[in-house]
Amino acid sequence: MAIRSPEPRIDEITRAGAAPPVPARFPAVRVMATPPMPPTPTARPVPKLAMEAVSVFYGSTAAVRDVDLSIAPNAVTAFIGPSGCGKSTVLRCFNRMNDLIPGARVQGRVLFNGEDVGARDVHPVDVRQRIGLVFQKPNPFPMSMYENVAYGPRRHGVRDRARLDEIVERSLRRAALWDEVKDDYRKKSGLALSGGQQQRLCIARTLATDPEVILMDEPCSALDPIATLKIEALISELRSTVTIVIVTHNMQQASRVSDRTAFFTLGDDRSGRLVEIGDTLQIFTNPREQLTEDYVSGRFG
Ligand code: ADP
Repeated sequence: MAIRSPEPRIDEITRAGAAPPVPARFPAVRVMATPPMPPTPTARPVPKLAMEAVSVFYGSTAAVRDVDLSIAPNAVTAFIGPSGCGKSTVLRCFNRMNDLIPGARVQGRVLFNGEDVGARDVHPVDVRQRIGLVFQKPNPFPMSMYENVAYGPRRHGVRDRARLDEIVERSLRRAALWDEVKDDYRKKSGLALSGGQQQRLCIARTLATDPEVILMDEPCSALDPIATLKIEALISELRSTVTIVIVTHNMQQASRVSDRTAFFTLGDDRSGRLVEIGDTLQIFTNPREQLTEDYVSGRFG
């Protein structure tokens, strides 16, 4: 609720046509006949994702408390912080994946394009179509690459073969996998690929439903350095069309791939807290908080 003084504001009085009261201890002043121009409304862009006072509990234990943040569209935001401080838990709130964990409870508001994803009339499957999630360990389905990528569109009712062919090829291209698999993607199992290729297949599968956001939960932690660099290059490619939020334990990776960085840590009560979020360069070179400075300079964590 806005805090109001008991006195009417001067603009309310002039709008109502009465002269403003003149405080007795000041000389009388002339009141301008025309009221001052109203301030130009500054349209603030709606963030792609936001959280307002979000806390998440597993049973009665708070994993993370009081998170307020907003995520800029078409940018990469990295979540960094020590293990167990709630980065993945916060990430999963955006597309309601915590709904699938027995005993998990989310308090507060999670907004997607300004709309509450937790509202009664919002279906989690629709949210997950528009906000995809890529897991730490690549998890292709035990079926052909084609079927892996066509899976989501089929579930959403695409039946036309030519249309599915087009979606599969486009998604494999966007995931920078097409050139490596174009000869056998219809037959070869997704499980027959290398780890890095499997992760790019999972990204292609996510892209097939044309999401606005892709959440990535330590997507490179199971990959070798070459495969990691390919995923990082892919993230840079995708950022112009998709909003990406990536959890990473690797600070060099955060500084390489992200535009914005959010630093989380454990509070004294052992639940996670967001310490600060800002431009990646600022977080790594000139953080506002001492806790962030200590973490990014390697003094703890
Ligand atoms: P991070 O991603 O920063 O490592 P997590 O979000 O995975 O942190 O975990 C935050 C806290 O929540 C930890 O204490 C973890 O043990 C707990 N936690 C995470 N997932 C579950 C779960 N499915 N059930 C119970 N506790 C969980």
